[in-house]
Amino acid sequence: MSIANKASQLGRLIAVMLLAACAPKAMPQGAAGGADLILTDARVYTLSWGEPALDGTPARDAPFAKGQWHPDAQAVAVRDGRIVFVGSTARALEYRSQQTRVLDLKGATLLPGLVDTHTHFLEFGAKLEAVDLTGLPGAEPAIARVAQRAKAVPKGEWIFGAGWDEGAWASHYPDKAALSRAVPDHPVVLRGLHGFAVWMNQAAIDALGITAASKVPVGGEMKLGADGQPNGLFLNNAVRMVDALMPPVPQPVLARQALRGLTQMAQDGYVTVHEAGVDARAMVAFQQLEGEGRLPIRVYAMLSLRDAPLMRQWIARGPDRDNSRMLVTRAVKAYYDGALGSRGARLLDDYADRPGHRGISGQGYGFDRDLAAQAMRAGFQLGVHAIGDAGNREVLDLYEAQFSADPASRANRHRIEHAQVISPQDMPRFAKLGIAASMEPPHAVEDMPWAEARLGPQRIHGAYAWRTLRQNGARLTFNADNPGSDHSIFYGLHAAITRRDKALQPPGGWYPDQRLTIEEAVRAYTVWSAWAAFREDQTGTIAQGRWADLTVLDLDPFALAGTAPEKILAGRIMLTVVGGRVVFER
Ligand SMILES: [Zn+2]
Repeated sequence: MSIANKASQLGRLIAVMLLAACAPKAMPQGAAGGADLILTDARVYTLSWGEPALDGTPARDAPFAKGQWHPDAQAVAVRDGRIVFVGSTARALEYRSQQTRVLDLKGATLLPGLVDTHTHFLEFGAKLEAVDLTGLPGAEPAIARVAQRAKAVPKGEWIFGAGWDEGAWASHYPDKAALSRAVPDHPVVLRGLHGFAVWMNQAAIDALGITAASKVPVGGEMKLGADGQPNGLFLNNAVRMVDALMPPVPQPVLARQALRGLTQMAQDGYVTVHEAGVDARAMVAFQQLEGEGRLPIRVYAMLSLRDAPLMRQWIARGPDRDNSRMLVTRAVKAYYDGALGSRGARLLDDYADRPGHRGISGQGYGFDRDLAAQAMRAGFQLGVHAIGDAGNREVLDLYEAQFSADPASRANRHRIEHAQVISPQDMPRFAKLGIAASMEPPHAVEDMPWAEARLGPQRIHGAYAWRTLRQNGARLTFNADNPGSDHSIFYGLHAAITRRDKALQPPGGWYPDQRLTIEEAVRAYTVWSAWAAFREDQTGTIAQGRWADLTVLDLDPFALAGTAPEKILAGRIMLTVVGGRVVFER
């Protein structure tokens, strides 16, 4: 003990001498004292070397030789929320004082903190709270699971569940009777796996005011019992009737769900999320969490253009520009067309699998062009959902027109969310107009079973076209659009560099010419995402003076990319640090 103490005293003495001798240059001006946190023995990829070429070739100064990546540092020291040193473990430990927490990462990989530029973490939090009924064989175990949950929920509060299989259960649909007996004091709403059925108890039927006389939309079915009353099962379009009757989620529940979603994102390695579509009630919840200092990770809020009163309020006030806050409201999310799977995306020519049909966009889809223009004029960044090649072209046209009417608005780094199908002639326009393509690696590998049927053999080349966009100079940022897709960084990186799904299909990758390199994929979740939120001077790379926003992985995706990319799928997040604070630790 005393020897160890002496050794550590000696170490400190040497450290102090070394600090006196050579550290002043390495320490930020005026700052004195030790680090709060030192992360040692890591494989650090700082990403502070030059940008790769548009074909993915690493820059000359990149830590890349003979086809293999190498970490470019070993340790990081953090003080007052910022990185004060990056380099060797020995030198990082010179920043140690009695208050310093030193974490030996034992060879784990340290990256700039991960960013997901398009999430729905509130919805994700609600999904996490719902009782999971997936894979259950029938009503009995489902009811047991709901009853178990009810024990922990105050009486009268709604209980939601999801995942029972309305397809597999179709020959023996459940009804309200046993569910109402087991859970009489909470309204219970259980959604089917595919969204075509809702099963509820008597308390929910009563709370929603549903009776045998309720008007069921065309294409819907409200099942009735032997007594002529609703029996608790609602099919197809009757689900929409139920949704329309649902009361708003109480504010405290919203705040709880937001926190739940954010906490999970922190555990999954994310230091910042962009919430794509915040309405007035969500904003109240976020502001409350920020005010109470409870946001675990940074939230970049994109206001929902569909909430016109909220938009007018923010247009009058103007965007937040103080990046140091945990909640920054600087962007607006708008919808321009539908989705490709359901053939709502607007195409320039007919759907290959439905002649005469081209989807829907713009005003017909509820896009409020005037309000969008006002938001741009007020200095907001606009992120417009566009999927089809016509949807994308129309949004690019809209940006172009707005920039000539109001040249100053061009500086606000506008985005197209998804940018899923792009006509060849529109590819260069992203760079020309300075529009970022905010895209989802999971979508490519999840849509591949049917996307080509919708688009045909020509247009498919412009779909999920990360490489083509890059080669045309477009800026990319990556995300998962959760909870629609799995936001695991390991899944995202794997999809981005292999174009294969989780089952490693197809073996050669789906349109593999659109693959990115591991460096590009990591940049799209870090430094390129920092740019998309006006933060490239504060974060995105690991360098002295930057925010101590860091993510630690138990495997090295740079090393594996060249040898065994499928192994990346098994990765785990070990540590998440936001502004120097450890928000998750395995
Ligand atoms: Zn979305």
